[in-house]
Amino acid sequence: MSSERLHPRLYRLLLGAFQAYLWLDDDGVTLVDTGPAGSGPAIEASLRDLGLGRADLRRVVLTHFHDDHAGAAAEVAAWGDVEVVAHAADAPVLRGERPGPPPAFTEAERDLHARVAAGLPPAPPVRVDREVTDRDLLDFGGGAEVVGTPGHTDGSVALHLPRHRLLFTGDVAAEYGGEVIFGVFHVDRARAAESFRRLAALDVDLACFGHGEPVLGGAGDRLRAAAGTLAED
Ligand SMILES: [Zn+2]
Repeated sequence: MSSERLHPRLYRLLLGAFQAYLWLDDDGVTLVDTGPAGSGPAIEASLRDLGLGRADLRRVVLTHFHDDHAGAAAEVAAWGDVEVVAHAADAPVLRGERPGPPPAFTEAERDLHARVAAGLPPAPPVRVDREVTDRDLLDFGGGAEVVGTPGHTDGSVALHLPRHRLLFTGDVAAEYGGEVIFGVFHVDRARAAESFRRLAALDVDLACFGHGEPVLGGAGDRLRAAAGTLAED
């Protein structure tokens, strides 16, 4: 199995060292991020395991432009009536109109990035059908609120589904070794920290990260505890 059920309507897709999420509504499927380029067949296989197919995909929401999140967006965008959604500030990068700004690496991150990014194919350009900004509402999961989380990239977003007390954090936050942590490879760490605190203020039970294991209970408290240590930086 290449997917893991987290909630009756939520699946985590395991795409090699990377991951993405499927949200299943009665009227179609939303994909949150896509994994790296070449993940299309694995995503399709996961849909098939759930008795679904390409034609069930309604939208793909990209939390930001990084290659491990948007790499397969062009593949799935070609499947049919699929709306590609991303923040207005990352849309030009996703379309290939300009290069994405590199992270402001810390010393430790530089090594890590060299290891992680080695062999990661660049994301092919993809169309963006809908550009969103902070507080926009997306029509899935009973209403998914876009939470702008600038600082990881300028156009990074999280998605908050209040009805399900669920948060997709993107890469501002992550999980590592059982801990909720501040993400890595931010373009602007101070802004990203501010965005992290914003996520920590949300009242959620479940958190799905761009990297690491999801938190399936008490996620708000876990984020707040992590934000507390962040403030000491
Ligand atoms: Zn990222």
